[in-house]
Amino acid sequence: MDTILVVNAGSSSVKFQVFGVESGNTLKRQMRGQVDGIGTHPRLRATGPDRAVLADRAFAAAAVPDVPAALAAAGNWLREELHIGPIAIGHRVVHGGPDHDAPVRVSAEVLQRLERYISLAPLHQPYNLAPIRSVLARFPDIPQVACFDTAFHRGHSPLADRYAIPEKLYAEGVRRYGFHGLSYEYIAAALPQIAPELAGKRVIVAHLGSGASMCAMDGGRSVESTMGFTALDGLPMGTRPGQLDPGVVLYLATEKGMSPADIQTFLYKDCGLKGLSGVSNDMRELQDSGDARAQFAVDYFVYRIGLNAGMLAAAMSGVDGFVFTAGIGENSPKLRAAIAGKLAWLGVSLDAAANAEGRSLISRPGSPTPVYVIPTDEELMIARHTLALLAPGPIRSQYERAS
Ligand code: AMP
Repeated sequence: MDTILVVNAGSSSVKFQVFGVESGNTLKRQMRGQVDGIGTHPRLRATGPDRAVLADRAFAAAAVPDVPAALAAAGNWLREELHIGPIAIGHRVVHGGPDHDAPVRVSAEVLQRLERYISLAPLHQPYNLAPIRSVLARFPDIPQVACFDTAFHRGHSPLADRYAIPEKLYAEGVRRYGFHGLSYEYIAAALPQIAPELAGKRVIVAHLGSGASMCAMDGGRSVESTMGFTALDGLPMGTRPGQLDPGVVLYLATEKGMSPADIQTFLYKDCGLKGLSGVSNDMRELQDSGDARAQFAVDYFVYRIGLNAGMLAAAMSGVDGFVFTAGIGENSPKLRAAIAGKLAWLGVSLDAAANAEGRSLISRPGSPTPVYVIPTDEELMIARHTLALLAPGPIRSQYERAS
């Protein structure tokens, strides 16, 4: 059977999934895996659809020194032991810059253009691109598709896309991009099946995981996001602060003598729920902790989500539905209940039993604003895009019907 390999490469790990292409171009997930501990204690792990362990093996640090080597280790295992040779590889790439509003098949020229956006996402883009470059050199005949976290938001109006700074910086690419676009796009495509009454309407989608943002979606299209130029803005996250007065950054530089590199590490790794609580960046640990600072961090998270929901509702002049997704949104009834409490003025009335049971529709039958929990699937979205670019006809039309 034809297969598609989906790759999500970060600085210290490469996650991958394999999808089988069944008749009628239906995609079926065959496995999830990752190579982590790159350059230190590399380890390849993979599980099948029934969570059966397919691989769990360690490598010498020198054998997997970098991200391309990690993907090569996974690729060799797939090819040599499972005889899986994908017909295409779909990559998650955080930044598509100002021009990419859709996934793109990668060529040497496209790769060169995407490398220009490294300065816009220095912690992610180089690691996303390195394995693409290496596959292009070693296996130039395997089609590769770059799927961007920014693309779904590129249709924002100029009002949503701009900062109040001189035009020159906008032209250079300093824009309010928004992220988690593959997740939002998946939800937009799932709404007609799961919540048909909301398809075509004004929906706030809350992607609440270790990274967190919210999207105002009108008629299945993103019109506003809580994130901006980088994935630092908006909601507080596991280790990122969310919205922060730029004056705080100036203070860190001038009064604390922190270098740009120090500030970058601080903002990406030491703030958010971790910095606020001093306990953990992990929502489960915070909820289980008896420490008052942990409870405060949880309350802060809920409060900021409420504030930002007001902002997104204003962007759409109202809201018809609300969707929770990602690690916290999908799995924590307690957090969902607390957040729903902040949304009562927007017409949200939660059904406590449905929420506790983890049903899909968790609002009361009469709730003016229905609330859903929809598990996201960014990897499936990437696989769909990859297949669509290989075979434009059938998949595209299937996808467009779904969205
Ligand atoms: P993600 O980045 O989407 O994988 O989400 C990771 C976040 O989801 C972490 O903060 C986890 O603590 C949180 N999470 C996962 N399961 C639960 C749960 N049952 N209750 C609360 N938080 C959870």
